[in-house]
Amino acid sequence: MLDLNTIQSAVDTAHRDFGQAPGGANADYIPFLANIPSDLSAVAVVTAQGDILSAGDIHYRFAIESISKVCTLALALEDWGAEAVQQKIGADATGMPFNSVMALELHGGKPLSPLVNAGAIASASLIKAKNTEDRWSRILSMQRKLGSAHIKLSAQLNESEQTTNFHNRAIAWLLYSAGYLYCDPMEACDVYTRQCSTLLTTVELATMGATLATGGLNPVSKEQVLSANNTPRILADMTMEGLYDTSGDWAYTVGLPGKSGVGGGILAVVPGVMGIAAFSPPLDEVGNSVRGQKMVASIANTLGYNLYKS
Ligand code: GLU
Repeated sequence: MLDLNTIQSAVDTAHRDFGQAPGGANADYIPFLANIPSDLSAVAVVTAQGDILSAGDIHYRFAIESISKVCTLALALEDWGAEAVQQKIGADATGMPFNSVMALELHGGKPLSPLVNAGAIASASLIKAKNTEDRWSRILSMQRKLGSAHIKLSAQLNESEQTTNFHNRAIAWLLYSAGYLYCDPMEACDVYTRQCSTLLTTVELATMGATLATGGLNPVSKEQVLSANNTPRILADMTMEGLYDTSGDWAYTVGLPGKSGVGGGILAVVPGVMGIAAFSPPLDEVGNSVRGQKMVASIANTLGYNLYKS
């Protein structure tokens, strides 16, 4: 294990070199996200031992968006086990945009990946629950266990998404018609939209990564929140589909399981070692934070972490 000064120096260097890198634009199809100041940027590492190293706007709470898909997948795996999730949702890359209807059409309505919108709406529908509020509270509770108890819903962001999520509603009905939705479609879409509308800090996001790095033991809260059998499945899904349609490029250049969201957050996991997270709103054309990718890649590269290295 590297010493903490070395890690802090890699964090500082990443933020200094790439925290204001040019390019990209805020997501604007969700009105709330279009108005977030574009110059915000933060980066954090949480180690498997629970050490926290960070730089930049680390107290700013941003929208989790697509990264929430990892948490709901974790809960679906806990509820149903790996084989059932593979059969009911799938475990493969779509190679298409995160909200693609064509990807569904090409595969008989099966979402393939729990990390695209269709697969995440299906995951939300799979969660064992008595009713909508129970489904929502179990999903929020998983976000909190993986990250931190301070993660909470933004009513304003949720309103912004619920009143514009027509495409996702259509996806939910398509899944239902193909037999890949496991509760009422509008309930699944409502809860999925809420799960995207929580706010968290970069350190809380890195804590999620550290929890996945340790086989499900949150190193900050010290709570075992997932079964260790399930974390390799989650990391495999992240490798295949975590950075939208450039997941392959990310594996090729960085070599770590990752997940990004259109709120500007990005997470990478070094199994057994640490979670690395970054946040900055401007996105590239497929939906990944431009600066976030550079900051995370810089830390991984400086510290020498790449899963595929001998
Ligand atoms: N709530 C967003 C949506 O469903 C999340 C998308 C993302 O971050 O990829 O479109």
